[in-house]
Amino acid sequence: MPHIKLFIPGPIEVSPKTLAAFSKPMIGHRSNDFKKLYAAIHPQLQTLFGTKQPVFLSTSSAWGVMEGAIRNLVSKKVLNCMCGAFSDKWLDVSLRCGKQAEGLKFEWGTPVDPQALDAKLSSGEFDAVTVIHNETSTGVMSSLKDICAVMKKHPETLLIVDSVSSFSGVPIPMDELGIDVLLTGSQKALALPPGLALFACSDRAFERAATLKDRGYYFDFLEFKKNQADDMTPSTPSIGHIYALQSKLEDIFAEGLEARYARHAKLNAMVADWVVRNGFEFFAAEGARSKTLTCVKNTKEIDVPALNTRLKERYHAMIDGGYGKIKGKTFRISNMGDETEETIGQLLGWLDDCLKG
Ligand SMILES: *Cc1c(COP(=O)(O)O)cnc(C)c1O
Repeated sequence: MPHIKLFIPGPIEVSPKTLAAFSKPMIGHRSNDFKKLYAAIHPQLQTLFGTKQPVFLSTSSAWGVMEGAIRNLVSKKVLNCMCGAFSDKWLDVSLRCGKQAEGLKFEWGTPVDPQALDAKLSSGEFDAVTVIHNETSTGVMSSLKDICAVMKKHPETLLIVDSVSSFSGVPIPMDELGIDVLLTGSQKALALPPGLALFACSDRAFERAATLKDRGYYFDFLEFKKNQADDMTPSTPSIGHIYALQSKLEDIFAEGLEARYARHAKLNAMVADWVVRNGFEFFAAEGARSKTLTCVKNTKEIDVPALNTRLKERYHAMIDGGYGKIKGKTFRISNMGDETEETIGQLLGWLDDCLKG
């Protein structure tokens, strides 16, 4: 039996090459071999992040670093921009960390409104903001350029950006934009197995962290910084993930970053054409649609679970049936990772067939 190929927005299909790297024999995490491995991939990671800052590897899913960012950066009060399931949850996580926190809510399907953010920050009560660049639940991509322009007017407020489902699918030049924490996870556009998070911090973020007492240990950003200076991680990392990442970086730089971004845009446009051709609509507002996945408004009220069952049985593939409160009212198709015009074309053909019943 072939495996079920995942066209859900994470985890996504992992290539045989990556899986082979993931299962290489272990090395000691304090050995020279490990240091060489981390040092070898580090410049490529910096290029991908668009930063001169160190890039850290956390053996956790993205939420570990999302929580860590709150614990390391929030002193007074955090403003959590909310426009979907993941960004809404970040308010809850901030409160669970014992921080003062408030949500800035936007309707699901709409992006973060930079003007509303500007107005809210003018109160001066916030020293950190969280933004999810690509709200995976709604298929909405907010404009980091516009958000970062607003942040420049509020220099005491640090910006934490989750790029979990957009990272490496679209350019995110961290230093140029002035992002203070940029974080991502392994199982989305990077097409690695789940369980690794990657992040980088600005100097301002490190300075803030140094003033905060309750950073804990596992996600203490200053521990990551100290260890990275010796090409190591604070605790034993998932070494398999780092080998898989090395293999994936080879792929990414062989393709070229611009070509990779263009490929994601092209495949996303193919899915968008399919949506329109079949008389569906987009859940995301016009102009704010994600480039790495499509959240389709189920305007024709099709039976999404039945469609997915047919897709699995006939073609050993699956899409996503919608997330949280819009499950069934929407469905989502990922175009992240290693997909090509051929594989996305194939999927859309399969969907056409399965839609017939
Ligand atoms: C998937 C996802 C997360 C959560 O990642 P975990 O790996 O489950 O921690 C967070 N934010 C966004 C935008 C995501 O798509």
